Amino acid sequence: MSDHIKRRDFLKTTAAIGATVVAGNATVASEQLIAQAKKGFKPVVIASSNGLSATAKAMELIQSGSDALDAVIAGVNIVEDDPADHSVGLGGLPNEQGVVELDASVMHGPTGRGGAVASLRNIKNPSKVAKLVMERTDHVLLVGEGALQFARAHGFREVDLLTDEAREIWMKWKEHLSPQDDWLPPHDIESKDIGESWKEFFRTTGTINCNAVDLRGNVSGCTTTSGLSFKIPGRVGDSPILGAGLYVDNAVGAAGSTGRGEANLLSCSSVMIVEYMRQGKSPEEACLMACQRISEQTRMKRLLDDRGRPNFNVSFYAINRMGEYGSAAIWSGAKFTVNTGEQESSRLDCAYLYKKENN
Ligand code: ASP
Repeated sequence: MSDHIKRRDFLKTTAAIGATVVAGNATVASEQLIAQAKKGFKPVVIASSNGLSATAKAMELIQSGSDALDAVIAGVNIVEDDPADHSVGLGGLPNEQGVVELDASVMHGPTGRGGAVASLRNIKNPSKVAKLVMERTDHVLLVGEGALQFARAHGFREVDLLTDEAREIWMKWKEHLSPQDDWLPPHDIESKDIGESWKEFFRTTGTINCNAVDLRGNVSGCTTTSGLSFKIPGRVGDSPILGAGLYVDNAVGAAGSTGRGEANLLSCSSVMIVEYMRQGKSPEEACLMACQRISEQTRMKRLLDDRGRPNFNVSFYAINRMGEYGSAAIWSGAKFTVNTGEQESSRLDCAYLYKKENN
């Protein structure tokens, strides 16, 4: 929590609605706290399991009056800049040719706008470029070379995103390459023993999705990723696709995802979760319903276990506009992070559809 809006100040302020607001740089935030108390919502930030620092940063900014989108982008920038996180930004694992390609999306609830980039090379903060697509173009999604030229035009510096550590992981993968890669032979719905290369055993996945309600009660979200490691160049997952990897409706809430993007692209779960919340479901219930939908929609035998359940995972993270939050994954063992402004960011278990035998 920021220095000038401690919890006790919040309680004091909300107890004295209508009283003179605190002086100095806390004034704006305090006015917002009063407005928030009148409307009954609470600020919140939720993120994927790698979001401890991101949620803490976003909440700190929200408590000093920041817009939710600015807050979540500043939060995920920490992860994008971290070379030790191999799922996002700098140090993200590359595609099959050893080139890092990043995807990101943003949505701004109060203005109903969104922006995204996909297959963006050499720029470590695709979330910032996604926001510029939203603010400075008439488009929603820019990809590949066009996205890079757009970023350059806005003064982004190009950097080599492939750290030595990530390159060595890629090299190991390449040296142990099996015939079971992304290039599938002709197959049908009954085929089982092909195309298993995306399984956790072979591939590292990861992403950060971060969603927030700010002190004005506005909702925004961001998803940013280096996507599936060792993907076919040009492969785009769910993260930059509004409705799939992220969706925000200021009147309802926000949802985002991590995990097997191909499954989520086929169900557009984030918009589905927001629609379930609109119908009155809690964030957790809505996330579980999206997991169920993916499970029902997955019919290819190569993607199912012996009991007909998906043999991959997808996780969802949702908040509603009142600041309630929830998360669910297809399989047990997944985590999410949250910060409600009342204590430090914490990492919690996601609800799940199926229990893994080992956890
Ligand atoms: N959903 C991301 C994608 O498919 C990857 C991940 O979250 O692991 O690109």
